[in-house]
Amino acid sequence: MTETSRRGLILINTGPGKGKTTAALGTAFRAAGNGMRVLILQFLKGSWHYGELDAAATMGEDFIIRQMGRGFVKVGGAETDPEDVRMVEEAWAEAAAAILSGDWDLVVLDEINYAIGYKMLDPEKVAEVLRQKPEMVHVILTGRNAHPTLVELADTVTEMREIKHAYEKGILAQRGIEF
Ligand code: ATP
Ligand code: MG
Repeated sequence: MTETSRRGLILINTGPGKGKTTAALGTAFRAAGNGMRVLILQFLKGSWHYGELDAAATMGEDFIIRQMGRGFVKVGGAETDPEDVRMVEEAWAEAAAAILSGDWDLVVLDEINYAIGYKMLDPEKVAEVLRQKPEMVHVILTGRNAHPTLVELADTVTEMREIKHAYEKGILAQRGIEF
């Protein structure tokens, strides 16, 4: 049976190819044009200055992007810095509250899949909030290696496949394309 009623979706952009965050930003731009309120919380990010931060600043209070990390994350057992874990926990607390509040039509959890993959965040906690989310709220999760529990829960899951990337030729990240 085809369900045609309006409802909030859970989307995941994952996979090794480029475009996971870019696609989420594109959807956010589309939502903004429909008069929707958009909150983008970026897990782990923080040291680089991305163009989308300045673009969002021109769009008013209904389109907010916040970096919730500090950029460089050391991971792997004892190497995981407790400060990074603390920042992820703080980001998640804010994300959960934002989703459950119903104040935002679209909440983007950028790079959250990495935080989960690095075992800094329990996927079961994320799943629990997604199961309880207000019906009309859309949520997008990005990052490689999306957790199977979240893939199962999501409505739309896209895997970016790398065919080639400029980086392999030694071309560094380009302004306006990568940041
Ligand atoms: P983007 O932000 O460009 O949409 P992404 O969200 O798909 O990329 P991330 O895993 O978040 O990818 O990585 C962020 C950075 O790594 C970006 O600068 C991106 O261009 C770069 N990157 C993404 N995919 C690749 C790849 N396959 N090889 C090298 N660099 C990549
Ligand atoms: Mg990304």
